[in-house]
Formats: sequence, structure tokens, C-alpha cells
Amino acid sequence: MQILDGKLLSQNIKKELHYEVENLKSAGKRPPHLAAILVGNDGASETYVNHKVKMCKEVGFESTLVRLDDNISEDFLLEQVSRLNTDDDVDGFIVQLPLPAHINERKVTLAIDPKKDVDGFHPVNMGRMMLGMSAYLPATPYGIVQMLKAYEVPTQGMHCTVVGRSNIVGKPMAVLMSRNHQFGNCTVTLAHSRTQCLKDHLLQSDIVIAAVGRPEMITADMIKEGAVVIDVGITRVDDASKKRGYRLAGDVKYKEVAEKCSFITPVPGGVGPMTVISLMKNTLKANQNLVYTS
Ligand code: NDP
Repeated sequence: MQILDGKLLSQNIKKELHYEVENLKSAGKRPPHLAAILVGNDGASETYVNHKVKMCKEVGFESTLVRLDDNISEDFLLEQVSRLNTDDDVDGFIVQLPLPAHINERKVTLAIDPKKDVDGFHPVNMGRMMLGMSAYLPATPYGIVQMLKAYEVPTQGMHCTVVGRSNIVGKPMAVLMSRNHQFGNCTVTLAHSRTQCLKDHLLQSDIVIAAVGRPEMITADMIKEGAVVIDVGITRVDDASKKRGYRLAGDVKYKEVAEKCSFITPVPGGVGPMTVISLMKNTLKANQNLVYTS
């Protein structure tokens, strides 16, 4: 069994990005610039955004954090989006989700210029990905594909089951695994909360990608011998033995499942670090105008 070490891989990519930035600077060009809009004071959103800003610093990117009160109007937020769309000093930006209930998330996503949509959530980027055109790929699926590539995980002709059909993880992941590509070409099953006999589907799967958010729901008896298991789920689970009172759990019961796998991602240290670094890769692509050239 081999661990797919997202922490280590993301550190290597970080060094590559840093090197790219130094090259840009020596060529007299400015470094990539990522902006983030954060509305309100949601603890988890704040942690995620701070992590992204910190990563920008570490790779040498510029970053701008636009903090807005949670009582701002939808129109005001749309004005901020429009301002970033036309700011030539900003290569790409994200609007951290979720937004307060009075703001229509879909309207905000649609207002982002697809050329600056480094989260890859805009329908134009989703559509381009679906059609096999170059696109900003959503960061988590993009990170998983990079991990499969780095560890040369065989995918051609394999049966892959993606559990979870969210717009940001499950659905794009299913598209990427089924595309005609060296790290795709799988026969894909997309499972969700209404799927019957999930265990039967999983037992037939060479690759399982779990993106549900239900701690340790996938157990060893559900996994085929030699399967590849990618665990996207991250949930805080109460744990009195930890100083902070909780631990992070994936969707997979790691210890027992790992014994049956050919490859597996740990939680934490697997998909999580690959997600943040993939957002940085998208920002570099935006800076170099690499996506919308074809
Ligand atoms: P969502 O809550 O948007 O989607 C969860 C999906 O799981 C839904 O499609 C739901 O089905 C499905 N589901 C729920 N219960 C079951 C079940 N019993 N059997 C099969 N499918 C089920 O979650 P996200 O995709 O946003 O996130 C999933 C997990 O991944 C979370 O733990 C999240 O924290 C984590 N995450 C981690 C990231 C990282 O970087 N590591 C990045 C993004 C997310 P239905 O559609 O029918 O409701």
C-alpha cells in the first residue's frame, strides 16, 4: 500500500511555483495576484481564506483580501465583483462560499468574469471542462488529478466510483475521471444519498473517491482488494483525548481500509493541501493567460 502524500506533493509544487515567480520577476514582470472576497465572520470561511492568503505569501504571489460585513447588500457585493473583474492588477479572484442567506450565490458566481474565475465554479469554466477544452478546473478535483499523475496511479479502463455529487467536488470529479485523458478514461459511477446498495457499487470499483462529509462511513468490507481510495471528506469529530477537543476525520475508516488498498490518501495531509496549491496553480495560469488561448 502506498500513501498518496498530498502534503509532500503540495510542498514540491510550492517550490516550483516559487521558482516560476522568481523567473517572472527577473523578466521584469509582476508576480501573480489573487484576490479573495470574504463576507461576514464565519469561522471556517475565515480559516480557509487566511490559509489561501498565507499560501500566496509563501509562493511569492500578491494577495488582496476584501473583507465585507455580513449585512452588505447583494448589489454592493456585485459591485465589488465587477470592480475586480476590471482591475488589471488582479489576475484572478474568489468569493469565499457560503454567502449569507440574503445573497444569491448563483448570481454572484455568474457575475465573475470566467477569465478570472480561478475557483472554476462559473458555468463557462464548468462547460469548457465538460467539453474537454482548457478551463480553470475546480481546485479539489484538479488537486486529485495532479496527485494521480504524480504517483502514476493507473486509471485507464478502471471502474471509478465517486461518492457525492456536489458542484464543486463530486460532479466535476466524475467528469475528469471519465474524460479521454491519460489520468482519466475510467468508467464512472456517480453515487449520492439516494444511491441504493452503495456497498455493491464500491466492491466493484478499482478507484473510490469519497466526497460526502460523513465521518468514516466507508469501511474495509466495502472496498475491493487492491483498490485506490481518495478521501476528500473532512469533518470535525469530538475527541476528548485531543487538546483542542476534536480530531479531523475523513469519509473513510482509514486504518482498516488502508490494509486493502494499493493507494490511499490520509486525512489530514491528503486532498486538503492539494486543493490550496491547485488554486495557486490556477492563479499562475491566469497571470500567464494560459487558459483562454484555445
Ligand atoms: P456536499 O455536502 O455539497 O455534498 C455531499 C454529497 O454527499 C451530496 O451529493 C450527497 O448526496 C452525498 N451524500 C450524503 N450522504 C450520503 C450517503 N449516505 N451516501 C452517499 N452519498 C451521500 O459536500 P462537498 O462536496 O462540498 O464536500 C464533501 C466533503 O468534502 C465534506 O466533508 C467537505 O468538508 C470536504 N471537502 C474537502 C475539501 C478538501 O480540500 N479536502 C474541499 C471541499 C470539500 P445528495 O446530493 O443526494 O444530497
